Amino acid sequence: MQVAGQLYILSAPSGCGKTTILRQVMVNIPGLAFSVSHTTRQPRDGEENGVAYHFVTKEAFTEMRDENRFIEWAEVHGNYYGTSRQAVADQLQNGQDVFLDIDVQGAAIISEDSSFDPVSIFVAPPSLAELERRLRGRGTDSDETIALRLQNAAKEMAAASQYQFLVINDGLDDAVLVMQSIIIARRSRTNRLPDGTAIILETDK
Ligand code: 5GP
Repeated sequence: MQVAGQLYILSAPSGCGKTTILRQVMVNIPGLAFSVSHTTRQPRDGEENGVAYHFVTKEAFTEMRDENRFIEWAEVHGNYYGTSRQAVADQLQNGQDVFLDIDVQGAAIISEDSSFDPVSIFVAPPSLAELERRLRGRGTDSDETIALRLQNAAKEMAAASQYQFLVINDGLDDAVLVMQSIIIARRSRTNRLPDGTAIILETDK
């Protein structure tokens, strides 16, 4: 039985482990796809074009935006980010469940668009103190950057109640399990059956 895929929105303050959780969930559960966003930010070391992002110029981004080729787009930390309408539609039509890793502005835009019926998930740290400890532990950011990220995190956490599900990352294994449970429960809903489908179970002869 082939049914259209489900759209998932995933948001989190940076440093919450969202990418690590999603990567593990995608290994464990078949039929999940990641939507590769377009961005005008510069690639970081080791980031390959077309994998985490499609890296484009501001001109190319603006053109796509003006042609209405993004489901949503937003400016985050001074750069533009957008979700391709065509790519997501293709993945959903293939029956894949599609994950959008987007910020709270993009999530609000998609949640208001009734054509998607998305499942929205917010990943949060157990506390801001713990998030600060993790950001400092990475040793990659200056005090200034950490202060800015913590400030942003506090703002983003205020939007958590607008999401349907909250995953508190107090340990990777538990967080992965909670995320998987959300997906499995969603896949088990009867309203995923195409209209008019009769369920015929094989009988023992
Ligand atoms: P980063 O540049 O650190 O990868 O991502 C910065 C922020 O941009 C993250 O919160 C991420 O979720 C968000 N983001 C990535 N892609 C998109 C997108 O297509 N749309 C929106 N609205 N946000 C995005």
